[in-house]
Amino acid sequence: MTIHGACDAILSATRVIAFTGAGVSVPSGIPDFRSSEGIWARYPPEEYATIQAFHADPERWWAFFRELSAAMEGTGPNPAHEALAELEALGCLQAVITQNVDQLHQRAGNSQVIELHGSPARLACLSCQSFTPGPAPSAGPAPRCEACGEVLKPDVVLFGETLPLKALAEAEALASSAEVCLTVGTSGVVYPAAGIPELTQRGGGVICQFNREPTGLTHTGRVRWFVEGPAEETLPRLVALIQAKQADPAG
Ligand code: ZN
Repeated sequence: MTIHGACDAILSATRVIAFTGAGVSVPSGIPDFRSSEGIWARYPPEEYATIQAFHADPERWWAFFRELSAAMEGTGPNPAHEALAELEALGCLQAVITQNVDQLHQRAGNSQVIELHGSPARLACLSCQSFTPGPAPSAGPAPRCEACGEVLKPDVVLFGETLPLKALAEAEALASSAEVCLTVGTSGVVYPAAGIPELTQRGGGVICQFNREPTGLTHTGRVRWFVEGPAEETLPRLVALIQAKQADPAG
């Protein structure tokens, strides 16, 4: 079974990373903008989750963002996040590289989390390039930069913006030297983020994909082990297998 292949790959490696996307957080109730349900039905992401929308009408944009933040309130890590935290605790996971901005990996207990799409825990001033600790007040006018008065933007990557260079460089360095990259809940086809597992494979490492269904990445032929199913079910099974093998290597 492919999950046994993934388990053996992890146990024979010293440098394992996880690369996660929206699919890992959907069971937590985080609205996936690809689903066109819930909040995204009223705020089409191609219209609202863009830097153009922010610049065009910051006050209207902040009303949208506050509603999105409210929809994410009360959510917490699910068994997929918890399994990745457990993998780190078992000494089997070096870092998590995520495209999510919900901070659920940190809350689950992973200590090395690289946020490729930024974090709402900071507010950025695009005018004077300064940062203010967030989150912003949940009501009132849009928050403004104390230094220059410009409207602040949560430090999350919107459509039309580039990925943060420092996080991207860190992720690329980790991926290039990793022996195993677990891709979880991501299609793995949208660049530049999609290049992360590719770097592991080009460096001689192995891609293990955990996803509800095959994606474009599965069909590239780069994936060594594809474990099909919801990550909140397959990852805990993986952890149980690893624990059993660690306890009884001959078993
Ligand atoms: Zn400023």
